[in-house]
Amino acid sequence: MNSLEKFATAKLAELEAQNLRRWLAETDRTDGAIAIRNGQRLISFCCNDYLNLSQHPEVKQAAIAATGRFGAGAGASRLVSGNHSLYRELETALARLKGTEDACVFGSGYLANLGIIPALAGPGDLIVADALSHACLMAGGKLSGAETLVFRHNDLDHAAELLRTHRSQYRHCLILTDGVFSMDGDLAPVMALAQVARDFEAWLMTDDAHGIGVLAEGRGSSFVDGKKADVPLQMGTLSKAVGTYGGYLCASRAVVDLIRTRARTLIYSTGLPPGVVASAIASLAIILREPELRAAPLQKARRFTRAMNLPDAQSPIVPLIVGDAARALALSAMLEKKGFLVTAIRPPTVPQGTARLRFTFTAAHRDADIDRLAALLRDAELT
Ligand SMILES: *Cc1c(COP(=O)(O)O)cnc(C)c1O
Repeated sequence: MNSLEKFATAKLAELEAQNLRRWLAETDRTDGAIAIRNGQRLISFCCNDYLNLSQHPEVKQAAIAATGRFGAGAGASRLVSGNHSLYRELETALARLKGTEDACVFGSGYLANLGIIPALAGPGDLIVADALSHACLMAGGKLSGAETLVFRHNDLDHAAELLRTHRSQYRHCLILTDGVFSMDGDLAPVMALAQVARDFEAWLMTDDAHGIGVLAEGRGSSFVDGKKADVPLQMGTLSKAVGTYGGYLCASRAVVDLIRTRARTLIYSTGLPPGVVASAIASLAIILREPELRAAPLQKARRFTRAMNLPDAQSPIVPLIVGDAARALALSAMLEKKGFLVTAIRPPTVPQGTARLRFTFTAAHRDADIDRLAALLRDAELT
C-alpha cells in the first residue's frame, strides 16, 4: 500500500470505530414525499424541498423549455459568456421578494458564501458569527482572512460583549448568522441582531437557506411580524423551498455590483444551466401566488411537535436530540424498517454529544403519516 492508500484506509477505520463514517445511499425521488431506497418506498422526512416544487409540473416544464431553447449548460462563467438572459429575470424576482434593490445569483448557496464573505472582509476586518452558523458561512469567514470570533448560539449579550471588546481594533465588521438554523430549526433574533449591528457599526449578513418560501409570506427570516429587519446582506439558496439549485445575495445595488465584480466563486465558476434558472423563476411565481402552499410546511411541523409534546416548531425543521451517534443511527434504522426515511445527523455536522434525528416537514406530507411517525417515536422513547 502506498502512503495515500494507507492514510485513507486508516482514516476510514478510525471514523468507522466512532460511528462517524458516512455513506452515499442511492435515493430516488419521483413523487411527493416518497423516496425509493434499496428498492423500498419510504416516506421521507429529510428532504428540504419544503413546497415540493422540484416535482411541480410548471417548474419541470420551465426547465425543459429553457433547456430546449438555450441548451443544457451555460458554457462559461457569467462574467464571460454564461450570463444568459434568464438570470436578469430571476434576480429581479428575488430582489422584489426580499425588498432589496438588486440580487446576484451564484452556482450554489455554499459558493455564494465562499464568494460574498471574502469580497467584503479581509485581513484587518472582524467577523462575529453565531456558533451554530452553517459550515459554509464559517468556511467563507476562514477564506476571507478576517479574524473570526464566535458568539454562543443566539446569545445577543455575548455578541455585544465580543463587539464591545474587539470591534475598535478592526476596520470593517461582519455579523454572520443563519436566519433559520439548519440543524436545530430555531430562528435567529434578527431584529435584535440588526440593532446590535447598528450599535457597533457592523454589517449583518443572514443565511436564509431555510426561510425563503416558507416563513413570512415566503419572504424569509428577515421579515418579522410583517416588518422588514434591517439586514443589508440577505443570502440564501434556491435548493430548498425553491426546489431547484443555486445561491443568491439580495442587497443594495452598490453592494451587488461589488459582489459581481469581486466574488471569486462567481467569476471563476461556470454559470448555472438555463433550465435551472428557468425553473427557479417558475418556482418563485408559484410561491408568490399560493399562500396555503407556503404555510403548509410550518403547519405540518407544528402538528408533529404537538404530537411529540415538544415546543412549537418555529420552522419546518424539527430536531430530536438523542445525544449518542449510535443511538441516532439505531433510531433511524428502526424508522426505516417502518417505512420512514429520517437521517441521523452526527458530529461534526452538529456538536459532540448532540447527535440527533432531524425531521423536515413539507407540503407533501400527509397528516396521517406524521401522526404515525410521532406514535412510533413516542414508543421508542420509552424503551
Ligand atoms: C443548505 C444550506 C446552504 C447551502 O446551500 P446549497 O445551495 O445547498 O449549497 C447554506 N446555508 C444553509 C444554512 C443551508 O442550510
